[in-house]
Amino acid sequence: MADTTLIIGAGQTAAEAVATLREVGYPGRIVLVGAEPHLPYARTPLSGEVLAGAVIPEDCAVHDAAFYRDRDVTLELGRQVLAVDRAARTVRLDDGRQLAWDQLLIATGAHARRLAVPGADLVGVSPLRTLDEALLLRDQLATARRVVVVGGGWIGLQATATAHAAGCDVTLVEAAEHLLARVAAPEVACVVRVFHATRGVHIICDSSVSGFEGAAGRLTAVLTHDDRRLPADVAIVAIGATPNGELAAAAGLEVADGVLVDASGRTNDPHIFAAGDCTRFFSPPLGRTVRLESWRNARRQARVVARAMAGDADARFDEIPFVHSDQGDLHIDVIGAPVRWNQVMMRGSPWIPDCTALMLEAGVVVGAATFNRPQDNAPAEALIRAHATPDPRALLDREVPLASLVP
Ligand SMILES: Cc1cc2nc3c(=O)[nH]c(=O)nc-3n(C[C@H](O)[C@H](O)[C@H](O)COP(=O)(O)OP(=O)(O)OC[C@H]3O[C@@H](n4cnc5c(N)ncnc54)[C@H](O)[C@@H]3O)c2cc1C
Repeated sequence: MADTTLIIGAGQTAAEAVATLREVGYPGRIVLVGAEPHLPYARTPLSGEVLAGAVIPEDCAVHDAAFYRDRDVTLELGRQVLAVDRAARTVRLDDGRQLAWDQLLIATGAHARRLAVPGADLVGVSPLRTLDEALLLRDQLATARRVVVVGGGWIGLQATATAHAAGCDVTLVEAAEHLLARVAAPEVACVVRVFHATRGVHIICDSSVSGFEGAAGRLTAVLTHDDRRLPADVAIVAIGATPNGELAAAAGLEVADGVLVDASGRTNDPHIFAAGDCTRFFSPPLGRTVRLESWRNARRQARVVARAMAGDADARFDEIPFVHSDQGDLHIDVIGAPVRWNQVMMRGSPWIPDCTALMLEAGVVVGAATFNRPQDNAPAEALIRAHATPDPRALLDREVPLASLVP
C-alpha cells in the first residue's frame, strides 16, 4: 500500500476522496494541494444561495477545517501544482517546492470558458465558477437592476432564477436554437423556457454576444451579433466549462477532452488516478465514454476511486449519469446522457411543471428528466439501466407507477 497519496485540486471530488480514504482505513499520508485559498467547497450553492446572499462562504465548505485535522490531512491551499514528474514521483508547486508522492489523484476539475469579445474585462462582466466570482457577483447584483445571463445551460438558468428572484430584470441570451442545447432534448428545454418566460425572464435564443459596452470601465450594455443592444448592469457569463487536463497531458497521461481513466479511475500510469469533472471514462450503462460536470458524479466517482487507491480491486464506477438543477421553485433531475433519441414522452403537466420526460430510441428508454418529481428518479434510472421497452400508453399514464414498468 502507498505511503503518500497526493491529491491535486481541492474541490468536491478531493473532499470526498479524502473522507473515503480514511473511512476505508487508508493509513498513509494524505496531502491535498488546491489552487484556491478556500477549504474544498460545493459549487452547487454558488448560482443560488451564494448569489442571493442567503449563505455565507463557510456554509459551502464540504467539511470544516477540523475534519481534515482529525484525519491527519496536510492541506496546501492557495498553491498550484505546476508540473508532475512521473519518474521521480514528485509534483512542483508554484512556490518552488517539490512534494513527493507514491500515488497521485488528479482532481483538477474544470474552468469556466471565457468570452473572447471586446469589453469582456469590464466591471460587471463575470463568469461563475468559483466562490470568489460568486461573491463578486453577489455584491454587484445587490445594486443591479438589469442583468444579462449569457448561456442557457444549467448554471446560466440557475443564476437567471436567482437574479430574477432578487428583483432584477433578467435577459438570457443563448447561442443555440434552444436552451440546454448540449444536455437536453428540445422538449425538456421547452418546459424550462416556459417556466422562466412566464415569470418574466426575457429569453433570446439563436443569438450570440459580440461584445460588452461600458462607460468609465463599467458595463452598460451587452451587444449581440444580430444587432441587439441589451442595457445591463451585470452580465453573468455561463457558457460552459473546459476540463483542466493540461497538467496531466504535460505529464504524458492520456487526455482527450478530459483525463482518460478506467472504471477504477486509473490513468495510463498505474500510480496515477483521476476523478470528477476533469475525467472522461467509459460508461458501461451508456456504452460510450462520457465527461460529466455533475455534483453527484464528482462525489460518487471520487468514492469509488478512493477505494481503488486504498487497494480495493473490486472498486468500479458504473453509474448512470445524473445532474440536478434548482431554478427557483423548479427542481429538475436529469438521468442518463443520451446522444440519440427519436421520441420524448411527457408524463404529467409540463405547465405547472410537475412532470417526467422520458427519452426513447426505437422504443428503448435512454434518458429522463423529472420536473419537481424526484420520486420518479429511481424508476427512471432502473428503466434506463434495464434498456426497458415499456408500453407507450402505460408510460404516458400517470396512474401507472413508473416503477411497475421496470422489467
Ligand atoms: C456555479 C455552479 C453551479 C453548479 N450547480 C450544479 C448543480 O446544481 N448540479 C450538479 O449536478 N452540478 C452542479 N455544478 C457542477 C459541480 O459543482 C461540479 O461537477 C463539481 O464541482 C466538480 O467537482 P471537482 O472537484 O471535480 O472539480 P472542481 O469543483 O472544479 O474543483 C477542482 C479544483 O482543483 C483546483 N485545481 C485545478 N488545477 C489545479 C492545480 N494545477 N493545482 C492545484 N489545484 C488545482 C481548482 O482550482 C478547483 O478548486 C455546478 C457548478 C458550478 C460552477
